[in-house]
Amino acid sequence: MAKQGNIKISSENMMPIIKKWLYSDKDIFLREIVANAADAITKHKKLASLGETAEAPAYRIDVTTDAKAGTLTVEDNGIGMTEEEVEKYITQIAFSGAADFLEKYEKAGGEGIIGHFGLGFYSAYMVSEDIEIFTKSYIGDAKAVRWESDGESVYTIEETQKEGHGTKIVMHLAKEEKEFAKEERVRALLAKYCSFMPYEIYLNGGEKPVNTPVPLYARQPKDCTEEEYKTFYRETFADYSEPLFWIHLNMEYPFRLKGILYFPKVRKKVELERGQVKLYCNQVYVADNIKEVIPEFLMLLNGVIDCPDIPLNVSRSFLQNDAQVQKIAKHITKKVADKLTGLFKNDRERFDKCWEDLATFVKFGCIKDDSFAEKVLDTVVFKNLAGEYVPMTSKFGAEVSEEDAKAGKEPDAVYYVSDVNKQAQYIRMFKDAGLDALVCDGEIDPHFLNYVEYKHPHKVRFLRIDADVAGALKEEATGDEELEKIFSAALEGKDVTVKSERLKNSDVPAVINANEQMRRMSELNAYYRMGDFPVPLTLVVNTGSDAVLAVKDAEGDAQKSAAEYLYLLALMNFRPLTPEELATFTAASGSYLASSLKKS
Ligand code: ADP
Repeated sequence: MAKQGNIKISSENMMPIIKKWLYSDKDIFLREIVANAADAITKHKKLASLGETAEAPAYRIDVTTDAKAGTLTVEDNGIGMTEEEVEKYITQIAFSGAADFLEKYEKAGGEGIIGHFGLGFYSAYMVSEDIEIFTKSYIGDAKAVRWESDGESVYTIEETQKEGHGTKIVMHLAKEEKEFAKEERVRALLAKYCSFMPYEIYLNGGEKPVNTPVPLYARQPKDCTEEEYKTFYRETFADYSEPLFWIHLNMEYPFRLKGILYFPKVRKKVELERGQVKLYCNQVYVADNIKEVIPEFLMLLNGVIDCPDIPLNVSRSFLQNDAQVQKIAKHITKKVADKLTGLFKNDRERFDKCWEDLATFVKFGCIKDDSFAEKVLDTVVFKNLAGEYVPMTSKFGAEVSEEDAKAGKEPDAVYYVSDVNKQAQYIRMFKDAGLDALVCDGEIDPHFLNYVEYKHPHKVRFLRIDADVAGALKEEATGDEELEKIFSAALEGKDVTVKSERLKNSDVPAVINANEQMRRMSELNAYYRMGDFPVPLTLVVNTGSDAVLAVKDAEGDAQKSAAEYLYLLALMNFRPLTPEELATFTAASGSYLASSLKKS
C-alpha cells in the first residue's frame, strides 16, 4: 500500500529561491547525486571490510540518459536505504537540510563556496519536475522501496521490487532541462565534475568507465612515471604543450593535501596568462581558482589540489582568515619555492632553459608574496650584456649600514637595459668600457625592480643604462668649466643641462643622461594616461674626445653649430630625433662632409 505524507517545512517557498539561487551553476546537481552514490559505496565497502556484510561483486555507478523519456538516472550498488532511512534522510533531512543550508548561505552573505558545494540530493530538483528513488538496503531481509516526489509538497513511498542492494535515482527532467537527457551533455558534465571520483562510473552501459577512480595525484609520487605526469597534464588541462616541470604534493599531517602543480610554458605576454588550479575535496570537484585557498600568484600554474580539510561549507571571507587554510596556502607556496631553488642549485642548465617561461611567474610571485620572494630572490636571473643568465643578486654591492644610509650614502648602482635596440649605443659604450648591465626587458620588470629596491633599499639601486652613463663611464670627475659654458650657450633654450666629464670611451663626444627617478615617474604617468611628464636630461660632454676639443678651439657660429651637432648626435643615441632636429642634423652633416673632403 502506498503511503502519502506532507513535507512539513514550507518547501513550496523554498524551491523557487533555491532554483533561482543556483540557476547559473545548476550543473552541479549531477555531481551531488553521483557523490551521494559514491558515498553509499564507500559506506558499503567499509561495512564489508569490517565483516558486517559480504563485499559487492564490483562497485560501480551507472549513469543512464533517456532522451525519449526525458530522464537521467544514477544507480549505485552501495549501502542502499530502508524505508525508515528514506523517510529520515531524504524526506526530513534533505528537505530540512536545504532550509539549514539556505540559512547558512544567507549568513555567508550569499557568496559562500557552498555555492559550489551544493545541497546534496535536493539540488536535483533544479532540473527535475519529479524524482523517483528505488532503493534497497544491504541489510539481509530489507524490502526495496520506491519514493517519489515533485519536490514541492507531496511525496509517495511504497514497497517495490529491486535486485541487489543500492539506490537508483530517476530524475524526470523539467521541460526546459531536457538537455540533461542527452548523452554528450552528460558526458561533458561527468568529465568536469566526476573525473576523479573514487569508483568507476559508466555512462549508458559503455565498456569503459568515464572517470579515473585513482587519479595520478592520489598515488605515491615514487610510483608515478614522467610519461604519466605528462599524460595527466594533457588530459586534465587540454594543453598540448609539455609542462616545464611539476610538483607532486602529498601530505598527511598536519593536514591532508594531495595534488600536482604544473609549471606551464607561458612565455612573455602582455596579459599574464591565467592558469587553472582545480580544487577537489576527496576526489570531488569543487571549483577552479579559489583564491582564498590558493595564493593568487600560483593561479598562473596549472594544477589539481585535493584538500579534504578545507572547511568548504563556510563563507569565503571566513575561509580567508581560517588558520588551517592559511597553513595550507603557506605550505603550497613553500613547496613551489623549494622546487625552484632546488632546480636552480642542482640543475642550473635546465633552470636557465626554463627561465623564460618561469620568469613572469617568479617575479609576479615575489611582488605578491614577501615570503615567496625571500626564498626565491636569489634564483632570479637576468641576461647580462654577454647574453648569459646571471643571478640578479650577484650584482648587488655591499650593504650600506643604517648609519651610512642616514648620512645619505646610497648602495652601488646596478645598471639595466630595458630595450636592447633603443639603448644599443649605451650598451656598446658599456661594453667598450668593460662594464656590464642586466637586460630587464620583460613586461613585469619595471614593477619587479621597483619591488626589489623598495624591499632592499640598503642593498641595491637600479639605474637604467642611460640614466647615469657618465657616472658609470667617467674616468675622473674633472669638469671643464669653459667647455660647459660653450655648450650651455650653444644649447640655450633647449631643455638640457650641460656637464663635462672625462669618459673612458674617447670615441664618444657626448652622451645624454636621463634622470632615473623622473623617468620612472614619467613612465608611470604615461601608464595611467595622466599626460606628459618631461624627464630632465643632462648632456655629458667628454673632455677626452678629440671632437669636443675641436669645438673648444673653434669660434663664433662654427663653434655654436658644432656644439649643437654633437648634442644632436648624443640625442639620437637616446631617442629618435624630431623632424626639425633631423633637418638640422642632416644639413650640418652635409656641410661637414663637404668641407672635410675638400681639405683632403
Ligand atoms: P548529504 O549527502 O550532504 O548528507 P543529501 O541530501 O545529498 O545530503 O543526502 C541525504 C542523505 O540521504 C545522505 O546523507 C544519505 O544518508 C542518504 N542518501 C542520499 N543518496 C543516497 C544513495 N545513493 N545511497 C544511499 N543513501 C543515500
